[in-house]
Amino acid sequence: MATAILQFFKTFMLWELLVGLKLTGRHLFRRKITVQFPEENTPISPRFRGLHALRRYPNGEERCIACKLCEAVCPALAITIESALREDGTRRTTRYDIDLFKCIYCGFCEEACPVDSIVETHIQHYHFESRGEQIMTKEKLLAIGDKYEAEIAAARAADAPYR
Ligand code: SF4
Ligand code: SF4
Repeated sequence: MATAILQFFKTFMLWELLVGLKLTGRHLFRRKITVQFPEENTPISPRFRGLHALRRYPNGEERCIACKLCEAVCPALAITIESALREDGTRRTTRYDIDLFKCIYCGFCEEACPVDSIVETHIQHYHFESRGEQIMTKEKLLAIGDKYEAEIAAARAADAPYR
């Protein structure tokens, strides 16, 4: 009987509403942690595995020596490489494709690369508008590497003590 009376008064006084407002009031003046995406971003680790890039040496020579280790290690079979000897006797890729629809962003390719050529950048916002754009060709990968070399080098340097 006493419980029923208590329940009646609680209902009459909108008790649950007051409990809810107490919780709201407690958080009203606390520091806000909401990130205003896309104007703001959370910090990104130097190890972040985003869009791929192929890097060059400072003299402009492409790093990749077409050893195909990345192609062999890729668990998703996303990398396709063809290679040929150049006139100077060095081996270079004639085709280097990554199918981003197959890629699982595991990072194995960059771990396997002996010359730090294929890397995954901090780029996480990208999209495709027509079929076939998900194939990242050698030209596209080198262009990304050229554009973001400073950021890529900084991320590799920051991560170097832990590798
Ligand atoms: S990140 Fe992993 S799945 Fe993607 S291309 Fe590299 S090795 Fe293959
Ligand atoms: S990107 Fe690196 S691992 Fe892949 S073929 Fe070129 S040198 Fe070898």
